[in-house]
Amino acid sequence: MNGDVLTPSRAAINIVKWLRTYLGGSAPLITDLDLVRQMLPGSPYGKGVTAIKGPAAITWSGCEGALVRNPENPTEWGIFYHPDARAERQRFTVAHELGHFVLHRERTTDFQCASGSVYSGSDALALMEREANVFASHLLMPGDLFTQAIRDTTVDLRFLSELATRFAVSFEALCIRFIEYTELRAILICWDNGFLDYECRSATARRTRAKVKREGDC
Ligand SMILES: [Zn+2]
Repeated sequence: MNGDVLTPSRAAINIVKWLRTYLGGSAPLITDLDLVRQMLPGSPYGKGVTAIKGPAAITWSGCEGALVRNPENPTEWGIFYHPDARAERQRFTVAHELGHFVLHRERTTDFQCASGSVYSGSDALALMEREANVFASHLLMPGDLFTQAIRDTTVDLRFLSELATRFAVSFEALCIRFIEYTELRAILICWDNGFLDYECRSATARRTRAKVKREGDC
């Protein structure tokens, strides 16, 4: 790691590289999270850890996913996910918890993640949640494969939906990655039960202060 600051995207990029080396140079669109989980304890990002167990279904409520250190064996960690979530959502949750393992496990021994915790809780907790999401996004949709998939293509909602299926991620996760990547003026608005949940803007949309035209606007 050469003393450099380990950003979430850099950590994910390095893990993807190790994975491809292990796979003899192939670069599958669907990241094998089980392999990542098994590989991490033997990697520079897993010092002092012998195993990451799971993922296992959560048996307590109010939680989307969790990463917990074994209280009886501090060299073991376990990942948990909510069994009622859709398969692609479960995958993102597992990748998110792997992000906590790589980036944050020195800070606490118990991460319990709710779907809205990116926007709530203390600033430090919300930052950790955002970092784990960025890590998951780059692990599940590596930049080079994402660029290849989108290059010379007319991007519309149908294409993005098909791309989400190819990467085995949710449409929402794919759109967030696209907004981060694109040079277009793009804004993602997520509504939940008629209320604005959150809004993501591409760099160009932020720079040009793009406005969303809502019903009733002139
Ligand atoms: Zn989390």
